[in-house]
Amino acid sequence: MARVGVFVCFCGANIADFVDVPAVVEESKKIKEVKFAIEYKYMCSDPGQQMIRDAIVQHRLTSVVVAACSPRMHEKTFRKALSDAGMNPYLLEVANIREHSSWVHQKDKKAATEKASDLIRMAVAKSIANEQLHSISVPVTKRALVIGGGIAGIQAALDIADARIPVVLVEKSPSIGGRMAQLDETFPTLDCSQCILTPKMVDVASHPYIELIPYSEVLELEGFVGNYKAKIKKKASYVNFKTCTGCGACWQKCPVKVPNEYNMGIDKRKAIYTPFPQAVPNKPVIDAEHCTMLLKGKCGICAKVCEKGAIDYTMQDEVIEREIGAVVVATGYDLWDPKPYEEYGVGRFKDIITSLEFERMVSANGPTGGVPVRPSDGKVPKSVVFIKCIGSRDEAKGIEYCSKICCMYTAKHAILLHHKVHDSHAYIFYMDIRAAGKGYEEFVKRAQVETAATYLRGRVSKIYKKGEKLIVRGEDGQLGQVVEVEADLVVLATAIVPNKDNPDLARLLGVSYDKYGYMSEAHPKLRPVETAKAGIFLAGCTQAPKDIPDTVAQASACAAKVCGLFSGDTMLKDPMISTVNKEFCSGCQNCVTVCPYQAIVTEEIPMGHGSKETRVVAKINEGVCQGCGSCVAICRSMAISLAGFTDTQIINEIVSI
Ligand code: FAD
Ligand code: SF4
Ligand code: SF4
Repeated sequence: MARVGVFVCFCGANIADFVDVPAVVEESKKIKEVKFAIEYKYMCSDPGQQMIRDAIVQHRLTSVVVAACSPRMHEKTFRKALSDAGMNPYLLEVANIREHSSWVHQKDKKAATEKASDLIRMAVAKSIANEQLHSISVPVTKRALVIGGGIAGIQAALDIADARIPVVLVEKSPSIGGRMAQLDETFPTLDCSQCILTPKMVDVASHPYIELIPYSEVLELEGFVGNYKAKIKKKASYVNFKTCTGCGACWQKCPVKVPNEYNMGIDKRKAIYTPFPQAVPNKPVIDAEHCTMLLKGKCGICAKVCEKGAIDYTMQDEVIEREIGAVVVATGYDLWDPKPYEEYGVGRFKDIITSLEFERMVSANGPTGGVPVRPSDGKVPKSVVFIKCIGSRDEAKGIEYCSKICCMYTAKHAILLHHKVHDSHAYIFYMDIRAAGKGYEEFVKRAQVETAATYLRGRVSKIYKKGEKLIVRGEDGQLGQVVEVEADLVVLATAIVPNKDNPDLARLLGVSYDKYGYMSEAHPKLRPVETAKAGIFLAGCTQAPKDIPDTVAQASACAAKVCGLFSGDTMLKDPMISTVNKEFCSGCQNCVTVCPYQAIVTEEIPMGHGSKETRVVAKINEGVCQGCGSCVAICRSMAISLAGFTDTQIINEIVSI
């Protein structure tokens, strides 16, 4: 005879404000098999769990229903409470009365209460048919894949590799380094970006546990936590990296000039190029979209001048496979295109640039020798207007969120301008100054004091041209009046946005992403670096805009998660997997086609009755099956059953309501 215990959680006010919890408990007590029901403020807390443990023993419960938040949140917590009380953990059912009731029916407490009772009734009915299940042990491939070689990917790769775990680092562009390689000095300490980044880049290339695969992209990821297989496309570089010495003779002689991405298009690079002098690997690649030899079969100069014979115009893209156990996604960010700001003359006035263009100009290895210049006439600007929140916090033109770093780097830009052009003056139009971080408020103060920059609180309404100058018209919130500032150069702090291929990559990995294209963490507070897909973690700006210190911290957190995952030779897997009843299986193989994890194979078994003939039946690979249930639904012979979700359990649920 089933003896079910029901434990209903208030979840503070989350459930209790919209569901009449005591009424739900009374309703539960009316169910024949329920021998004990109780409510508590926080069922997941230690006293809450103790209630469950005590009741299991005192009331000789045969299964437990916890009515609380999503099982994603605390199923493991409650399963452990059952284990601690000597009960099989899979005799637990969670009725999600928070996400499925209180949160979605906040305007109708009566209906929310009735629905909560229904959900509990279903969970009780299902739990009666629950069976004792046991976790499955599967081997772990102790190799991590890091996608993206910016500072996030670099830090994660180094931390994992330092724990002697092999890492495959896949970078889309010809060199690692990401956006940080484009920066000059960095807030809040003004240390030189290259000086702190390039040694790490070199460490990546020389680390015995890191396989660096530049100029590559992940095409496919199949499998599950601990046992993924990645297909990686290595784009043809047309240069044999083994023989190339990186001497640069090729790109010096190449006649084709193309806007240089590294310098934000301010100057040109060649069709064969190394992205920047400190690139890792420091080998050139041929840009197939611009090389006249590859496009028209004319030229071939680079092959002629290369003494090592490293140029190979016949090179093809290559697809390679790597087996891995975990993935760190670190694909970073892009800058929002400010074109919608037509009233500022974006695109019409040459002397309006973006913050990253300014950053390149003031960089020691930048295209203008470390000094800002006006794109229109090459003159050094004396009056520079910086405008913050371009696109950020502007729903009408751009996006709702704050890009988080622009207040800080604009303060930095004021300081760098002052250092490079002593007789210059910076004007900064801002909405707020957000400087929450260690040493950040002090840094902004330093910018204000050291440079005497004029901070003007208000939006810019228009920019127009007057002779050689740009006139920036905006509000001065403190004086409550419209001001006009004469500028030689205007710098727009454009919003941070995710890489445009982030949604495609997220879909490929099976990870969710938000409406902007940032990949989503499993829980914003408690699981900030994990995704909802086990074994896939997020580092850096792929998850949200952030500065270097936060990016590095998150990358190291990912590395800690990966090392934790790989701490044993095997890992335990939930036993909710499918099994095939061979007697019923007709061998149609519909299940093989539908399984998204390729967990079903076929085997030949004897026909039976002494016959020598054989027939084909489906067979589940226990380690690969993820218990999604697709095969159960497609099987017309009803030969497949999913542990924990048997037909009896599902029918019990339906009948109960
Ligand atoms: P990224 O640097 O964007 O690196 C991502 C990498 O992933 C890139 O190499 C990219 O090519 C690669 N990638 C993308 N997609 C794929 C794919 N599908 N497959 C493989 N590889 C892929 N922060 C500070 O702390 N201090 C500062 O002074 C500072 N100044 C800044 C100034 C400006 C103007 C800007 C815009 C930002 C500034 N920042 C500063 C912020 C800093 O740039 C970021 O915090 C940091 O670069 C984030 O690193 P990341 O690795 O997450 O991303
Ligand atoms: Fe490499 Fe040859 Fe170019 Fe020198 S000339 S960088 S060896 S490809
Ligand atoms: Fe440049 Fe292509 Fe000519 Fe080489 S073959 S020099 S990359 S244009």
